[in-house]
Amino acid sequence: MSALSNKSSPIVIVGAGIFGLSTAIHLVKRGYTNVKLLDKQAYHQSQYSHDRGCDAASADINKIIRAAYGHEIWYQELALDAISKWRQWNDEIKEGTTVPPNFSRDDALFVNNGTLTITSDSSLPQFEKDTMQNMAKAGLRDTQIDLSNADDVARAKAEGFGFALDAIDVKNHAAILDTQSGFVYADKACYFALHKAETLGVQAILGGPEGTFSNFIRDGGSRISGVRTADGVSHAAELTIMACGGWTPSIVTQLDNLCETTAGSVAIFQLPQDKALWERFSPSNFPTWSYNIRHGRQGGLYGFARDSRGAVKIGYRGTKFTNPQTQPDGIARSVPVTRWTQQSIHQIPVTAARVIKSFVKEFLPELLPCESNTRLCWYTDSYDNQFVVDFVPGEQGLMVATGGSGHGFKFLPNLGEHVVDRIEGRQNDYVKRWAWRSISEGAKPYNSLMEGTSSDRSLQYQALAMVGGSTKQLSRL
Ligand SMILES: Cc1cc2nc3c(=O)[nH]c(=O)nc-3n(C[C@H](O)[C@H](O)[C@H](O)COP(=O)(O)OP(=O)(O)OC[C@H]3O[C@@H](n4cnc5c(N)ncnc54)[C@H](O)[C@@H]3O)c2cc1C
Repeated sequence: MSALSNKSSPIVIVGAGIFGLSTAIHLVKRGYTNVKLLDKQAYHQSQYSHDRGCDAASADINKIIRAAYGHEIWYQELALDAISKWRQWNDEIKEGTTVPPNFSRDDALFVNNGTLTITSDSSLPQFEKDTMQNMAKAGLRDTQIDLSNADDVARAKAEGFGFALDAIDVKNHAAILDTQSGFVYADKACYFALHKAETLGVQAILGGPEGTFSNFIRDGGSRISGVRTADGVSHAAELTIMACGGWTPSIVTQLDNLCETTAGSVAIFQLPQDKALWERFSPSNFPTWSYNIRHGRQGGLYGFARDSRGAVKIGYRGTKFTNPQTQPDGIARSVPVTRWTQQSIHQIPVTAARVIKSFVKEFLPELLPCESNTRLCWYTDSYDNQFVVDFVPGEQGLMVATGGSGHGFKFLPNLGEHVVDRIEGRQNDYVKRWAWRSISEGAKPYNSLMEGTSSDRSLQYQALAMVGGSTKQLSRL
């Protein structure tokens, strides 16, 4: 049964990151006519650019779009569907059907430059073997290029992916290239989705006190009938959906032990004006890559081709840091802190910087002399790495759409379909997996949550690498 009485019932979504955007688009596509999207960040002006003050996980230069999901075939299917929709969005721009302000028809969101997964193991890890098997079941074995398999390599070259095999010397490491995947320009993609949502009829109130959630409006008892923003205005809603990314767990505290905010570390290398380097790192010559992504604290690296300004991004998620802060109810919850909220957080922990530096030294030494900038980017992890899309227990009229767990972005085009399914009471695999849940006693979580200040991942114990201030190069550390 649907949670809404009819298609014109007022719906408020708080948060215009990818969870909020995708939900808004699919609500209007399914015929809902009264959808309001609020965000504290002025995305109409900043266009989701991190450099212009945005600190949401979604507001970034680029994000990996991959279909490799090991044994998790449900995400593989969702990712393949998303990739076909990213291609449709590219076509909409090219054909002139959807062209946001400041876009040209030459702009593309998704770039299919392949993703190269490298591990220091001597053979492919189980995750990659499972992916190959599941791709084969889907009739897509040809898209998986095992670098130790001569037939695969020849096929990749014949299909124009030779550049992706040659760009990084993988030495004797096991590596696999997925030719279906690549990356999206994340800030552009969000701005495109916002434009699409507004064109379809979503009302977006973004930035300043007008867009900033202050508190829920309660009809006495447990029914939530909308939200009040920081300017004191009430926004009535039959359904309120909180999609505040890393800020969600401290607003909807029922998420304790289900979701927590953690930080990934990002370094941006600025290429000098050097034609050879710009060519080398251009998306047509350089794949999206990851290195030892599931190998603990000394691994968890991934990176991208350069963007149009010569920025080469490398991320580290081998350690996900936390920022536990005691809340008014006495519980310490991790909350995002970024360079835009606290200046010293321009930097990343030294441990992260060292892992990045040692990879760069070994595999991409040309980047070492480049000027660098670093920053933290906040995930919303669930304990089992699955998203959380459901009604909040004990409340009526309140949902969350969150728990991206470091892999949500790729689903911007299609995630919202399943949020709407949940609202309408339709059952499917995604609705079931993303339902409200708690970890069974004694079970080992995929992500350990709420370790508070006792955790050595807490930012308070981290020496910060002062890159981007007086130290211009990561190599100086
Ligand atoms: C470092 C890093 C790298 C990643 N890489 C990838 C990748 O390569 N591929 C991939 O698929 N996924 C990746 N992810 C995951 C992906 O970015 C996230 O799953 C996704 O962007 C989360 O979107 P969101 O909408 O939940 O949150 P966010 O994008 O953080 O959006 C939340 C929004 O809520 C707003 N908000 C918060 N509080 C309030 C308030 N009080 N009032 C109003 N608005 C509020 C914020 O301003 C923000 O706009 C990565 C994540 C990180 C952190």
